[in-house]
Order: sequence, then structure tokens, then C-alpha cells
Amino acid sequence: MLTGDEYRESLRDGRRVFMDGVRIEDVTVHPLLRSSVDWTASSYDKYYDPDPEASGPYFFIPKSIDDLRAQGERQIDWDYPTGATSQGLLMVLTAASRMRATHPVYADRALAYFNESRLRDIRCVETITDAKGNRSLPPGKQDDPDMYLRIVERSADGIVIRGAKLHITGAAISHEMLVMPTKRMKAGEEDWSVACAVPVNAPGVTILTTSTAPRPDLDPSLFPYSSRYNTGEGFIVFDDVFVPNERVFLAGEVEHSATFAHALGLWQRLGSIGSYVKLADTLVGLAQLTAEANGLERVPHIREKIADMITYATLIRAGYEAAIQNADYTEEGWAGPDELFTNAAKFYAAAEFSHIVRHLHDIAGGSVLTAPSLRDLANPETGPYIEKYMRTMEGVDADLRLRLFHAIRDFTADAYGGWQHVTMIQSGGGLFAQRLVVHKHYDMDHAKELAKHVAGISKDETEDGTESIVGARPPFG
Ligand SMILES: Cc1cc2nc3c(=O)[nH]c(=O)nc-3n(C[C@H](O)[C@H](O)[C@H](O)COP(=O)(O)OP(=O)(O)OC[C@H]3O[C@@H](n4cnc5c(N)ncnc54)[C@H](O)[C@@H]3O)c2cc1C
Repeated sequence: MLTGDEYRESLRDGRRVFMDGVRIEDVTVHPLLRSSVDWTASSYDKYYDPDPEASGPYFFIPKSIDDLRAQGERQIDWDYPTGATSQGLLMVLTAASRMRATHPVYADRALAYFNESRLRDIRCVETITDAKGNRSLPPGKQDDPDMYLRIVERSADGIVIRGAKLHITGAAISHEMLVMPTKRMKAGEEDWSVACAVPVNAPGVTILTTSTAPRPDLDPSLFPYSSRYNTGEGFIVFDDVFVPNERVFLAGEVEHSATFAHALGLWQRLGSIGSYVKLADTLVGLAQLTAEANGLERVPHIREKIADMITYATLIRAGYEAAIQNADYTEEGWAGPDELFTNAAKFYAAAEFSHIVRHLHDIAGGSVLTAPSLRDLANPETGPYIEKYMRTMEGVDADLRLRLFHAIRDFTADAYGGWQHVTMIQSGGGLFAQRLVVHKHYDMDHAKELAKHVAGISKDETEDGTESIVGARPPFG
């Protein structure tokens, strides 16, 4: 296993990373990337074990409901690349399981890749979203065929790929990218049906990265969350990148082009709802603390809003629990979450997020945006004014209220908060993708039968065993 420092050293590997028009020579010391590197390094140190056979719990294949639950508990506090590694490798294994019957070579490579990643203790990010060009056209009809990443050359040793993958979280500070098709491909789209693993520093790879860290000239106490926990998305260009055969998991088999996206959707969305349970409870906590600090926690409209927030948090938790409790198993005996509960919970959490944050902003008041800084509080010229006018009662001083307001602004209403709003809607393939999956896995026949009962048009067994469409039993009550 690697220590945190060995991880930092491993990132000094010649990778081509750019931000704000400038090439970043060393991501570990860059002012906007350093804290995400440090966060990931802290996971390395937390799990480090010098035993050569040891590996981190993120290289773990759940085989039971208890395993899934334990993995979910562990994952909630992981940095982004560590969580993505766990989800991405489970995606590769799930896809391998679904392809084993027809393409055992790919399934064997996927398992070998999982073991190799475990032994090297690397971080691998989920790399699916293509540039996509004109969204109304398929890959082959685009005026530039590179709008979806594709194979441009095949040889006995491997393939050469070209294209771009956008919004890839954690790419600049990870080791490898798990590349896969963004959607189902049809006959004739073989070159776009490609899945593989590509090192971040492979020749031909360029990363243009963003960061959710606050700019270094800003006071970090104004950003109590995002200055400690931040990440960034990579705009990744694959400019004729060679991928050796042992890292290719799909190269033209259109019938499996969506296998990876489906498997990723499952694991990525389970990881998301696990983290949303914590996120929603945090929003409730911020609302309650602020209401108490303002002396309003017993006021009916405040209590109603907090009750809405509690219901939101509890329903996400219920969906998460149901997804785990109704686990499915592969032929290998690997456990995976239930598709319907996972996607319904992810959709609900994302779709209702803005509504729930609105309650928090409503409860907290305008100081979320206008509260003076902690540096103003520390200044002897201005501090006494803030102490006088920001305190509300015995035990609630200016320091407490300023910290709450800055936390709410940073977490929900500033640069990181804006990132969170868009990410809620778009990550994991967007709301549309989750709607598709819930349609596919919902028991519509059962629902239609119930509707027919209500309408009195369902077939029902009579006492002599013949079918009747009248006199249907009421299904409720
Ligand atoms: C912060 C953040 C982190 C992310 N992390 C990752 C990551 O780590 N890895 C990764 O691979 N991706 C990642 N994503 C990408 C995410 O999955 C996509 O943003 C999402 O799938 C939408 O794709 P898009 O951004 O290209 O938007 P678009 O495809 O332009 O979609 C915009 C809207 O148009 C609709 N639309 C698009 N095409 C069609 C069509 N043909 N028919 C009907 N409607 C259509 C969509 O449903 C959506 O409502 C991340 C995104 C964000 C914002």
C-alpha cells in the first residue's frame, strides 16, 4: 500500500494538467489543488498497512447485505478519488460478470485489472461523459466523429483512442481513468463502443481542470467547508492514446456498449445517495442550530420547514436502506444494490434538493450573504460592534452566529454551494437517466392490475374458479 507521501510522489509523473491557461507542473503544491491532494493523502495514511499483502477497504467486493451496508458506512467519509475507485472498480466487475458468458476474455481482463489496481493501491476515476456535439445526432452522424470517444486504430497489441471526456471528477489527482461509452451504441457504431483503463499520464492525455477550492487570496474562515473538502472536474482530451490489449474491456461489441454505463450508474448512484443521507442530515442540523440561535425554534412555520427537511433526509435514508436490503447477486455471488430503489432515491434527493435548501435559506435570513467576517470580529475597531449586534441572547454570541452563517453560505449559496446545486442535478447521468431506470425496473403490470381493480375491469376469480371481470375486490382498505 502507499502512504500519503508516496501517493503525493506518485502524482509527479509528467501528467499534462492545465488550469486558468497555465500548465501545472506539480499538482501536489498547486494552491487550488493542494487541499484535494491532502484530503486524498489522508485516506492513504488512514488505511496504510505495511504488510505487502494488505489492501485498502475500497478494493472490496461486497458479497452480502451486511457487506454492502458496511462498505456504505465506510464510503461516506472518503475523499472523491477513493470513493470513485471503489465505485468504478465495482462497475468494472459488474460489467465483467454481465459479459462473462459471451466475452470471457474481457471479463478476465477486468478481474485482473481490479487485482492490479488493488496491489498498486491506485485511484481510478469514472470517465464516461463524452463531448457529444449535437445532442440530437448519434456519434456517426456528427460533423466531427471525435465528439464521442472512439477507436481510430487497431493493432495486434491494442487500440488507439481519440476524443474527449468532460466533467471527470478528481482526474487531475488520480492515477487512472476508467473509460467507457456514454450511451448505448447501435450496429455501425462499433468504433465508439470502447471501454478501457488509461493512465492519467499516458502520452496523448491532456487534462484541463477546475477546482472547488476557494481562491488562495480569500480568507479561509469564510469557507469553512470548501477550504477543507474540495475537488475539481477534468476536461480530458485523448489525442490518439495507445491502450494495450490487457487494459481494453470492450472494443467494438455494440451489444455491450451500455453494460458499463448501467453498471456505473448503479454503483455511482448508490455512493451518491449514501453521501446525500449525510448531506441532508447536515442541512437539517444547520437549520435547527440557526433557528435556535435566532430564538425561533418553536415558531410554527419554522418547525414545519424543519419537519419537511427531516422528511427529506429520512426518505433518502429509507431509499438507501431499501436499495441495500433488496440486494441483487451476480453469478459470482457478488452483492449489488437494487436498481429501482437506488435510482428512485437518487432522483428524489436530486430533484428536491433546491426546495430543501430554500427552507434553510428562509430560516437563516439575509446574514447568510451579508455577515461580517471572523477577521472583522477579531479587529478591535470593529469587533465590539459585531459582538453587540450579532449576539441574540445569553449563550449565543456573535462568533457562533457568524460561523453558522458562513457555513451555510459556503455549503449552499456560494461557489461550492452552486457547484453542489448543479452537481445534484447532473451527476450520475442527470435526472433523465434516473427516470429511465425507474421506468425499466418498476412493476408496471402490478400497478395496472390495481388500477383495473379500481375501475372494475380486472379479471377476478369467481367462487367456482371461472374468471369474471365484475365484482372485483377493492384493493385498498
Ligand atoms: C460536478 C459534476 C461532476 C461530474 N462528474 C463526472 C464524472 O466523474 N465522470 C463522468 O463521466 N461524468 C461526470 N459528470 C457528468 C454528468 O454525468 C453529466 O453532466 C450529465 O450526464 C449531463 O451531461 P452533459 O453535462 O453533457 O449535459 P447535456 O448532455 O448537454 O444535457 C443537458 C440536458 O439535455 C438533455 N439531453 C441531452 N441529450 C439529449 C437527447 N439526445 N435527447 C433528449 N434530451 C437530451 C439532458 O437530459 C439534460 O437535461 C459530472 C457532472 C458534474 C456537473
